[in-house]
Amino acid sequence: MLDALNPAQRAAVLHPPTTALQILAGPGSGKTKVLTSRIAHLVLTHGLVPSTICAVTFTNKAANEMRSRLSALIGKQKTSEVRMGTFHALCALFLRRFAHKVGLDVNFTICDADESKKIILHLLKPHKDVIVAKDLMLKEGTVLSHISRAKAKGLSPKEYAKQTPEQSYEAEVHKIVAAVYVEYEKLLRRNNSLDFDDLLLYGVKLFTENPTTANWCRHVLVDEFQDTNTTQYELMSVLGAAAGGCVTVVGDPDQSIYGRVCLLWRSAEVTNLSRMKNDFRGTTQILLEENYRSTASILNASLAIVSQDKSRINKRLLTTHPRGCTPVLRTLSTEHAEADFIAIEIKRLIASMGGILRYGDFAILLRYSALSRAIESALQKEAIPNVLLGGHKFFERQEIKDILSYLQLVDNPSFAPAVTRAINVPSRQIGEKSIAELASRAAKRNSSIMDTVESIHDAKCPDIKPAIKQKTASFVKTIRILRKLASEGATPSDLIRRLLDLIKYEGHLKKTQPDWESRWENVQELITFASEVQTEAEDELVDIDFDEEPQPTQTRDTPLRLFLQASMLSSEGDNQSEEDSKEKVTISTCHAAKGLEWPVVIIPAVEKGTFPFYRSEDVCEERRLLYVACTRAQSILYLTHTSKRKIGGVTKPKELSQFIASVAKTEKARLSNNDLFTNQRPSLETDASERDVISRVLGRPLAAQIEVTRRMEDFRRTTPYLEEYDALPQPQAAWHPGLVTPASVS
Ligand code: ATP
Ligand code: MG
Repeated sequence: MLDALNPAQRAAVLHPPTTALQILAGPGSGKTKVLTSRIAHLVLTHGLVPSTICAVTFTNKAANEMRSRLSALIGKQKTSEVRMGTFHALCALFLRRFAHKVGLDVNFTICDADESKKIILHLLKPHKDVIVAKDLMLKEGTVLSHISRAKAKGLSPKEYAKQTPEQSYEAEVHKIVAAVYVEYEKLLRRNNSLDFDDLLLYGVKLFTENPTTANWCRHVLVDEFQDTNTTQYELMSVLGAAAGGCVTVVGDPDQSIYGRVCLLWRSAEVTNLSRMKNDFRGTTQILLEENYRSTASILNASLAIVSQDKSRINKRLLTTHPRGCTPVLRTLSTEHAEADFIAIEIKRLIASMGGILRYGDFAILLRYSALSRAIESALQKEAIPNVLLGGHKFFERQEIKDILSYLQLVDNPSFAPAVTRAINVPSRQIGEKSIAELASRAAKRNSSIMDTVESIHDAKCPDIKPAIKQKTASFVKTIRILRKLASEGATPSDLIRRLLDLIKYEGHLKKTQPDWESRWENVQELITFASEVQTEAEDELVDIDFDEEPQPTQTRDTPLRLFLQASMLSSEGDNQSEEDSKEKVTISTCHAAKGLEWPVVIIPAVEKGTFPFYRSEDVCEERRLLYVACTRAQSILYLTHTSKRKIGGVTKPKELSQFIASVAKTEKARLSNNDLFTNQRPSLETDASERDVISRVLGRPLAAQIEVTRRMEDFRRTTPYLEEYDALPQPQAAWHPGLVTPASVS
């Protein structure tokens, strides 16, 4: 293991585990590799029990990636014992076990963004007049991200309300958000549910107020530390303190991409790096300077982009690889021409590398996921299999939420968002008015809506309209049957199957959805997922000795609860299985691609207004995001842009992003032979030396010339419109002064 590391990496792995360590380095310098090797070293040399090690990553996909790298070093069994996952998953696991210690019911439901937005939409109603009168841009999503940011900073509704902004518009917005925040919190508690931010806040509360719940921890490791927010930092801190200061973090300030972004539960604090040095005395810093991922020309172009930020601290980053293909910059006429270009180029590259590249080696990284539509259809047209990462998420699909809402109610009848969804699946003609009436009755009785609906059927309620009673009968019956089955130990997959029967869900889909077949497939997939969770998750914390009084049996996790939790946490970032990604082109947002790498990366729509995104508050952060995207590429990088793009139904003229235009315009780029971008596609078919570089960077054997020729002939035969598309006008000097012309490409 140590032989596979360079001296600086080795020093980091071997650094005494008893002091805190920060590893700071650029992309592709082996930070994640070092972190993984350090875990292996802790287990193999220092004899740490795997379950006392806590390793935090930012997405489930990153956790899977780390798990597979660690498996190769210490074996599958030991790897599975390491507490590895996102901050959210870690908190959920411990909160389930110790809910009673922080005043929660053990059957709390995790509320996702979609449900949070619905709650906020409802809470905004009383403020509607003010919003209209004062022309405030306040939609439920905006309010939620304000609240989320407050929570990420650890501000309670009271503390948030005290921070009044000076400017009048902001002060108005703040007043409404503060009022909604108070009610939102009350409602979540009444629903016995936690949103993603709460998971972290309650996690901090649990570990801080009950130190014995953290005493299992001997070492904490955090990947992508530059993107931790205040609450996440506090979590790391409290676990780190329990571990006696044994903390290892890795990060890269140049890749900090969650500072201002209006995403849920993310609002990173760049100051966390210095805060850690104060909080953990004797923190050592190790820098890594060698990039192992990308060719020199990809690294040069990426560094040229990020170094336009003059406030950034310049770091050395050298590459171990030769120049390789110059990154390609292409202009296309419209988004459809761009998508076609990408699809055909993928096929051409595979052919011209004689088969050593596969679909799974390509990633198309987008500034935002709506840009994927044209690209998806172009790939489909060319029969190129593809998978969307971090885009439309499996667990956010309507049919999946329909099923989950029933199961959520079986587990936690207080969870109101699930009642309002499930009560009309299939349609029982229960309108908003009836639901509002049920909600107000529930409030008067100080109970949940589900409880109220049930009481209509149990007790005599003379004042309730008979129609409501009749319409809700089948709903109550279904829930009761499922509840009984669950209490008798039915597995989640059995419960789903029974539910589908009871509500005749397949028929419901047929009647209401034109694409019912694929939706039905998704439901089947949910059953598969349920059966996998069952086998994996029996009791995750059995091996930890908390020197605690035993937990009352009724508060233990049930298989249903574990399944629901796994579903909610899967929706957190990504759900692409390893099998999925091997033979498919990945389409992903740039954010979700963090920490990952592909042999070929294509970044479309590198245009003003799109990249940087016009709504972003922080141009520097947008530039870092483009840097993150470019540095995912190992051997070939494409940036494309169009001169016209249809956005929101309107065709708009488009210009190349200023991030690239200014790089391409530099005198250095114009004069130097080391051109940063070229408008020529790599002609690998005729350039064996370029093919050789790619093979070496990827560590794959070079394909024989005869194979290249054969595959290119096939490609030309099956792609008749290649010539037409080759003749597209390309970037001219007038467009991009300083852009490399074909003659100057070395
Ligand atoms: P990012 O900042 O993008 O997360 P990173 O610093 O975490 O990048 P890794 O993903 O750990 O970088 O490593 C990038 C690539 O370089 C991986 O394919 C890894 O296996 C390889 N690599 C790292 N160190 C070495 C080494 N010493 N020798 C050979 N390959 C290495
Ligand atoms: Mg990494």
